[in-house]
Amino acid sequence: MISVKEAKSIIQGKIFKLDSEVVPLDRSMGRIIFEDVVATFPSPRFNNSAMDGFAVRSSDIIGASKGNPITLKNIGISSAGVPSDLILNEGECMQCMTGAKIPTGSDAIVMVEHTTGFSDDPNVQIMIEVQPESHIRKRGEEIQKGDKLISKGTHITPSEIGICATFGYGELNVSKKPKIAIFGTGNELVEPGENLKEGEIYNSNLYVFSDLVGKAGGEVLMQDVLKDNKSYLESFLSEALKSCDVVISSGGVSMGRFDYVRDVFIDLGVEEHFWKVAQKPGRPLFFGTGNKTLIIGLPGNPVSSYIGFMIWVWPIINEMMGTNIVKSIEAELTEPFPVENIKYRYLFGKAWIKNGKVLCKPSRKIGSHMLTSSLNANCIIGAEPSDIKLSPGDSILINLLPWKTIE
Ligand code: AMP
Ligand code: MG
Repeated sequence: MISVKEAKSIIQGKIFKLDSEVVPLDRSMGRIIFEDVVATFPSPRFNNSAMDGFAVRSSDIIGASKGNPITLKNIGISSAGVPSDLILNEGECMQCMTGAKIPTGSDAIVMVEHTTGFSDDPNVQIMIEVQPESHIRKRGEEIQKGDKLISKGTHITPSEIGICATFGYGELNVSKKPKIAIFGTGNELVEPGENLKEGEIYNSNLYVFSDLVGKAGGEVLMQDVLKDNKSYLESFLSEALKSCDVVISSGGVSMGRFDYVRDVFIDLGVEEHFWKVAQKPGRPLFFGTGNKTLIIGLPGNPVSSYIGFMIWVWPIINEMMGTNIVKSIEAELTEPFPVENIKYRYLFGKAWIKNGKVLCKPSRKIGSHMLTSSLNANCIIGAEPSDIKLSPGDSILINLLPWKTIE
């Protein structure tokens, strides 16, 4: 049995980075961008109106007010997408809509509300005076040509997609998605929706894995629930080793008489790097490599599988795509935490913010078969092995579940 720290460093030494691929912008969501994105033009690209109104020469309307309107000659329209070539001379104005190019000669916009309104009438009364540059979005005021917009390695969220679209990028160079095989083992496992016979239970782990793989940025290429039978395991695994970057199993790696997963891995030539880690839950944790494929065998208890995925597999998927590992943050316990003597102890927990401090408490359900302990959790709380008890007021590390919020 090795420590969590040793296990992490062994895995670290085996993780490889995936290549990139060019994908259409709408397929890049959630991926990791592989090169810096630079502005190929300034933003705004041209001086344009921030309001629906009239483009004017501010010097023409000095002193204008409701009681003292100034009449200008309306020479045309500049609308978004349809600019006007006309030049504004003294005493003239032009109808100018939001986003429309400011006509040459104009230096300000008067909101339509402060005029007699849009019409084909050649005379428009202006009832307010404005400073030069009023309601004009200036070329380059937000971004200059050549500015770096997004750094290589950034996770693409709606903000990044929006910026890439704004600057005209139709395709992006992003990390490939790790191809992942997930499988569960157990003669007792039945799919939800079917009827259970005596001694059977529903397979829940693969549903959790499948969602987690997607959330972490990977792609499930192969997925199956297999009987505790060597030949089924062999045929699934030999295929997975050929086509996938990561193979993740649940169940069948412990000491049970029918726990064949490890044997089959080894029969297929997988090199075992470790099999047991000083952690609870999830002590039987297999890690091996077959060619380049990384193989992680998690124990079948639903909490061990879920926490094991988050602690061991999620960072692997992230790193393969070139992103940073999720960092732990420090929180203060409001309830005792059941520290173990020689094992790293993980539990689902709830964290929240009070008076600027992050507080947390572990789930009261501590059995590794009790998946309901994850229901109201927003974090995984972890404690180093120690003889010293952790009590309310003590600080502890938590990993926030990335799709949950902290309030
Ligand atoms: P194992 O690691 O195969 O010894 O399984 C440990 C426990 O987890 C047993 O109670 C199994 O029935 C249960 N288990 C294994 N696989 C799954 C699964 N896919 N979904 C839910 N429970 C499972
Ligand atoms: Mg089993």
